[in-house]
Amino acid sequence: MSAPNPRNAVRASIAINPPVLPESEKLPPAELFGRDIFSLKLMRERLPKSVYERLLLTIDNDDPISPSDADVIASAMKDWAIERGATHFTHWFQPLTGVTAEKHDAFLTPTHSGEIINEFSGKMLIKGEPDASSFPSGGIRSTFEARGYTAWDPTSPAFLLKSGGRYTLYVPTIFLSHTGEALDAKTPLLRSQEAVSTQAIRILRFFGNDRVTRVRANVGPEQEYFLIDRRLYSLRPDLILSGRTLFGAPAPKGQELEDHYFGAISPKILAFMTEMENRLWALAIPARTRHNEVAPAQFELAPLYEQINLAVDHNMLVLKIMRDTAAEYGLACLLHEKPFAGVNGSGKHNNWSLSDSEGNNLMDPGPTPWKNSQFMVFLAAVLRAVHKYGTPLRIGVTGAGNDHRLGANEAPPAILSVFLGDQLTDVIKAYSEGKSDAETWRGGAMTPGISALAPLARDITDRNRTSPFAFTGNKFEFRAVGSSQSIALPNITLNASVACALDDIATELEKIGNGDPDKAARQVLKKVFEEHLPIVFNGNNYTKEWEEEAERRGLPNYKDSVTALSYSTSPEVKEVFTRHGILNERELEARQEVLLENYIKVVHVETKLVQSMGRSTILPVALKALGETAKLVNLPKPAGATVNPGEIHYNSLYVHCSKLTELLDKLDKTHVKLDALEGVMNKALGARDELIPLLLEIRTHVDALELLIDDSEWPLPKYGELLWQ
Ligand code: ADP
Ligand code: MG
Repeated sequence: MSAPNPRNAVRASIAINPPVLPESEKLPPAELFGRDIFSLKLMRERLPKSVYERLLLTIDNDDPISPSDADVIASAMKDWAIERGATHFTHWFQPLTGVTAEKHDAFLTPTHSGEIINEFSGKMLIKGEPDASSFPSGGIRSTFEARGYTAWDPTSPAFLLKSGGRYTLYVPTIFLSHTGEALDAKTPLLRSQEAVSTQAIRILRFFGNDRVTRVRANVGPEQEYFLIDRRLYSLRPDLILSGRTLFGAPAPKGQELEDHYFGAISPKILAFMTEMENRLWALAIPARTRHNEVAPAQFELAPLYEQINLAVDHNMLVLKIMRDTAAEYGLACLLHEKPFAGVNGSGKHNNWSLSDSEGNNLMDPGPTPWKNSQFMVFLAAVLRAVHKYGTPLRIGVTGAGNDHRLGANEAPPAILSVFLGDQLTDVIKAYSEGKSDAETWRGGAMTPGISALAPLARDITDRNRTSPFAFTGNKFEFRAVGSSQSIALPNITLNASVACALDDIATELEKIGNGDPDKAARQVLKKVFEEHLPIVFNGNNYTKEWEEEAERRGLPNYKDSVTALSYSTSPEVKEVFTRHGILNERELEARQEVLLENYIKVVHVETKLVQSMGRSTILPVALKALGETAKLVNLPKPAGATVNPGEIHYNSLYVHCSKLTELLDKLDKTHVKLDALEGVMNKALGARDELIPLLLEIRTHVDALELLIDDSEWPLPKYGELLWQ
């Protein structure tokens, strides 16, 4: 007798065992918020006034910190961490793997007299040297010269994370090679932040603003994710190892009734969200909005926006805390861009704006934008950035996972365009023509026809959910980012391209001089708008007509990551990163190499999963069913019967079993052949053109078998079970 099917056991357990939901802390959010970070408030209390004030200058203005101040800060940080029960510290960094890295060291140091003291010096705070030779470096480091250094980033606060009942002190750092080249995501992010600040300040100075000391990019990333029962998850090697289901017939019910979107949140999920939010708030991560998303079992978390450096660190922590908390609540959090075929995937809406050191949002149009030349310059710069640097922006969101989403009629297409809304588009016309009014820039009121309601103001723009890059009132929303991706690279690219555009515009303005800044701006922007209005598209981005129209407008349409990455060496890509020193050529090539390698590795992992699951999980069950059904082929027929159900069933099973066997053989051979290819681009093309289509073809037969074989025999949890628990 064969072993019992574990799927049946899990289903039975789910049916009778209600989820055990651990209780969460009930502290009011205001008390909890920031409890586990070495905050400005703590620093003010614990540091000498002069050190604290110099540190503020570092945080606000990027002034360098002195070694003696670092010693004082390290000591205060250590005392606080130890008071809170921490035993270890770690430099926390973001290598090119796209995830975070940490290596813990105990504070303990032995003394001459054989005692143990807690030590954490300024030196240990400022610099670390993990032996990190196994991280991808895209050729920047070879293993025989593998030194890599982590360096404290004082602009992102240190924090405590609890695991195994004890706290560890986490120090955010950047990660550099022996030669000083960036091996991580944070270094170019900080450089891009400085570049966009410098160029934006040139514009502000042109308009006579001498007060502003810096400009910051702000980001609010809306994070989508799936939650499924962990017991079912544990029976799906594809989910565990690749993050997505490589097999699975559609459930009888998917998202067609639209009853999950914004639906009432179930108690089990709400318990998870409550605990996750507690943990985020303790780290001063401003988690704000929670709701059910479009696909069944899909959810969203939106934080309040923060300056970009914090937003990037915090999003990495959000991903970690989501996964960890889910596991404790009997759930598995799926962050892949497309865990399930046939229902929506997950993305990340990256809301982005610039604000100055006095707190003004430079993307705010104000009441009369057609008279607000400064706003018009920033608007024009964003249009120029997306138009001229569409290729680098597209490269910033590549990934094998995101390829399932972009252009799949649920997410924005791979063609980059900007949605401004008719009103703002009219404002550009009014501005360019020097008109004193823009007729359509009127919000007005909405009239639902119910007298008891307070008047409802109408927003200036409606939403366009199909646009990859939309103006939403006082910020731009870059919607092509994948749910599992770090938001670092998309924002580096965005900052870098806007810095280039601002630089170009500032140069033109400065040539004219700022005797009459408004007049100069109108003169310069007339040309800029003329040149870049083709990037504006306010219609439906999902249609075939737009694809054709975009082609006429000369907008690139890189349908997949390999195509996008094949433009890596184009002049705009090089220019956008090197002009302001965000990445040098070697650092840039390294990143492109790592992106391509990652694509290849992802497809190869999926291939190996399909090989092993196809042969050792699916085929045995399918062949057993085939054998059993063979016995039914020659069943006696009643008189006059024309149909032989046993034979029909057998034939269907036979077709799919034989195709599956044949295709698995073909997959083996193709895999071996592609492995032997030279060069990452060749391997990536092979993965895209030969492996991915084969994986899809194999899937159709497995999914057909799922629908033919006795339900109690099927080994993998089905879509209906995974999505509707
Ligand atoms: P929408 O409903 O248009 O998506 P929300 O107000 O819900 O906008 O905000 C979505 C995200 O955008 C949130 O993370 C929010 O904090 C962020 N956001 C709001 N204003 C800005 C801004 N000026 N710059 C960057 N992000 C912002
Ligand atoms: Mg949004």
